[in-house]
Amino acid sequence: LASRDFHPENTVITIGDVKIGGGDLVVMGGPCAVESPAQIDEIASLVKAAGGQVLRGGAFKPRTGPYSFQGIGVEGLAMMAEAGKKYGLLTITEVMTPEYVDVCAEYADILQVGTRNMQNFDLLRKLGDSGKPVLLKRGFSATYDEFLNAAEYILAGGNPNVMLCERGIRTFETYTRNTLDLAAIPVLHSLSHLPVIADPSHGTGRRELVEPMTKASVAAGADGLIIEMHTDPDNSMTGDGVQSLFPEQFAALLRDLEKLSPLV
Ligand code: PEP
Ligand code: MN
Repeated sequence: LASRDFHPENTVITIGDVKIGGGDLVVMGGPCAVESPAQIDEIASLVKAAGGQVLRGGAFKPRTGPYSFQGIGVEGLAMMAEAGKKYGLLTITEVMTPEYVDVCAEYADILQVGTRNMQNFDLLRKLGDSGKPVLLKRGFSATYDEFLNAAEYILAGGNPNVMLCERGIRTFETYTRNTLDLAAIPVLHSLSHLPVIADPSHGTGRRELVEPMTKASVAAGADGLIIEMHTDPDNSMTGDGVQSLFPEQFAALLRDLEKLSPLV
């Protein structure tokens, strides 16, 4: 079902008045994690002012170590939903387990599957009948075939609204957090009809690389971007402050993108 042979036309996912995969670039921006009502409200206002369409923010965080901040949970979902509604932004949040799909679907417009969960088949099956669009992140060691097979689980469950997200893979290079596989963008477009989103934040792990890799992703044909932005990155509650753009950088980047490809 994910294959272009089966479905030659591009899939366009329509959520409210935002179309993903229809030729206009979609920008999802926001913090790694929802931290407080004031934090997510302020960041939402900045995403909107910069021209973004979707507010990102994790309420459930997949952390490498068990003692790291794990996210604020359901309360965070409510805070983000409120900020999204207030500023007219769609929202996207990560869901980590099948049990939480329903509650995340109640609050968010798009459900994100993290890199560590790309082959959590019970979660993928559950997302197949969640009724919500899904942004599926590529596993950091997944081949294109494994990635498309993971998408296939969601599609086979009856949910046609899947976006593929290239978020960097693990290579021998340690200077960057991951290696953003730019070639994945045209390859996935040729193999599949699903929209392709790039995540230059996790794909590099370094703030100064987000701008060039965003532009490179657009040049490679990305349908959208998911970018971390924080008003106080040095004090963010996850370690992802180092890759988060400052609000001015986020706004400047979106101004540049408008010249490359019109935003929705
Ligand atoms: C995130 O988007 O904050 C995240 C944890 O992403 P990934 O699953 O790509 O590491
Ligand atoms: Mn993050």
